[in-house]
Amino acid sequence: MHDRIPEPLKALVEQLSRLPGLGPKSAMRAAMALLKWPEAETRRLGRGIHDLRDNLHLCSRCGGLSSTDPCAVCSDTERARDTLCLVTEWDSMLTLDEGGFYHGQYLILGGLLAPLERMDSDSLDMDRLVKRLGEGEVHELILALGATLEAENTASFIRQMVRRQFPAVRVSRLAQGIPLGAEVKFMDKETLRQSLQFRQDLS
Ligand SMILES: [Zn+2]
Repeated sequence: MHDRIPEPLKALVEQLSRLPGLGPKSAMRAAMALLKWPEAETRRLGRGIHDLRDNLHLCSRCGGLSSTDPCAVCSDTERARDTLCLVTEWDSMLTLDEGGFYHGQYLILGGLLAPLERMDSDSLDMDRLVKRLGEGEVHELILALGATLEAENTASFIRQMVRRQFPAVRVSRLAQGIPLGAEVKFMDKETLRQSLQFRQDLS
């Protein structure tokens, strides 16, 4: 970066440019925009970033982000406790839940098996899943992992584990009306609702 850029600005731009979608140039534009904000607003943004770690927790039940533990979904006593929907990431859980047609529990796997990207079973939150199924409340595990090759591989890995360790648990997955390659978080509500309604047994 240019030598004449003052050090504090340079440091900020360098940090901002690590954010997804922000290269060095757009990070500089963002930093310049921040400088034009009223001081109270920039301070509030700074405080928000500063407090993020303190005020956000990972829900110990589902692994989702929340300001409480357990999160609002997991502590909702109206929800069915015998159905567990397994999603890749937290934003997939948000998308599914915003639809309002699923009333069971969730668990976030934390990724998909992708050997080329060094994502093996250790990178997934298998412990949380095994522990959850081990509680014996869950009768059906719905795999909502998407329709990519990685999702397929991960689904069969999970199905084998469940068959071996929890043979009484039914494993299903979202119906395959989902366009190939689709990720759950990008699916529209109606497609999602139908693929849940017409979910298919995997065992
Ligand atoms: Zn939760």
